[in-house]
Amino acid sequence: MKRGLEKKDLRCLWHPFTQMRDWEQERPVVIRSARGCMLEDTEGRRYIDGVASLWVNVHGHRRPEIDRAIRAQLGRVAHSTLLGVSSESAIKLAGALIRIAPPGLTRVFYSDDGSTAVEVALKMAFQYWRQKGGRYRRRTKFIRLLNAYHGDTLGAVSVGGIELFHTLYRPLLFPAIDGPSFYCYRCEFGGDPGRCGRECLAALDLVMRRHRDELAALIVEPLVQVAGGMLVAPPGHLKAVAALCRRHGILMIADEVAVGFGRTGRIFACEHEGVTPDLLVLAKGITGGYLPLAATLATEKIYRGFLAPFGAKRTFFHGHSYSGNALACAAALASLNIFRDTGVLERLQPKIRLLARLLRPFRDLPHVGDVRQCGFMAGIELVKSKRSKAPYPYAARIGHRVCMRARRYGLMIRPLGDVLVIMPPLAIPATMLRRMLGIMHRCVREETG
Ligand SMILES: *Cc1c(COP(=O)(O)O)cnc(C)c1O
Repeated sequence: MKRGLEKKDLRCLWHPFTQMRDWEQERPVVIRSARGCMLEDTEGRRYIDGVASLWVNVHGHRRPEIDRAIRAQLGRVAHSTLLGVSSESAIKLAGALIRIAPPGLTRVFYSDDGSTAVEVALKMAFQYWRQKGGRYRRRTKFIRLLNAYHGDTLGAVSVGGIELFHTLYRPLLFPAIDGPSFYCYRCEFGGDPGRCGRECLAALDLVMRRHRDELAALIVEPLVQVAGGMLVAPPGHLKAVAALCRRHGILMIADEVAVGFGRTGRIFACEHEGVTPDLLVLAKGITGGYLPLAATLATEKIYRGFLAPFGAKRTFFHGHSYSGNALACAAALASLNIFRDTGVLERLQPKIRLLARLLRPFRDLPHVGDVRQCGFMAGIELVKSKRSKAPYPYAARIGHRVCMRARRYGLMIRPLGDVLVIMPPLAIPATMLRRMLGIMHRCVREETG
């Protein structure tokens, strides 16, 4: 049976972000069940879910409160549309999201995943300026930050800045204006985050000044460019970026798809620096990692820009078949209740400090170039030469090799190129976190010899 499944996988499936030629050479791990922070495969082997099933899981798998909420919703209705009618769990979740979001965000627009929620934000920003009319109609462009990742649909790719994922599709994309990243480890002012941060801001200010009349919005990942390699912004950077947007009258879209829902130690990353964006994009952890759901939150100013007589055609012409799916909203509400009722963020703080301590021994390893942590997420950048910061050759797949080795010791992780990612569910017990970092240390030593 289980070998049958593996064979069928090789025959039928095309996996995301996967070179299938390599996949066919490796024996696939087929997950059959999970509990808490452990995954179990069809052979009965167990693994720590070290990247929270691609950054989505928050409270662990099979959380009784979320399981119950989904079952209860199933007893009422699984899905009904939000086009022209409303739905109980979608309304309740919208209220709950607004209560915990940065103040000033008052409207919730649902979609299905991070990419679609980014598309929604881009279209809202664009349409907002078009409808404002006059010289504002020329505000049609977006700033694309180097190393940014906002999803894989074409609009999201247009504002993405990861060469490997995005360059090939360039002819299909709308043009965007390039802006700087904050990859301090590899920036020309390297080793001095203060200097690096100031230079980044000055460069961004210049871009905004040069293009202000044609810019609709800047889209940023607050505090951390995650898929870009877990690049952590210097303190104060986000607040300064928000101030630049305000000064130049450019809308700010905060993409908290990866950093939202507790990952940084607060419910939203914007909270750390007292920032309210014009549009806030949420997905991944929103349902606790159970079901696909996303939301784009807007300020009243943006929302009002769409109110007009029917004939003026200012409707936001966008929606998806499963927008505001009832089961997903019920899961999300249950997840937010766990945050509210069980002190998730309070109990996370000592684990964030523990993670910082557990990361220290990595810095001494001869092929670890940089270790970056923000709240309960971290990246370990492997380099061929620590002194020159020279990377390993792309085809050597050093990050992948470390992660494949970790499976033998019962840890499931996935790298970002040569950056090892540490992103377990927030619920991971301290002992399991210790075990996870221990396995990673051992695997880095064994693979980099
Ligand atoms: C994952 C991610 C997305 C895309 O979300 P999907 O649900 O995979 O479409 C967008 N932005 C950020 C910052 C992400 O990490």
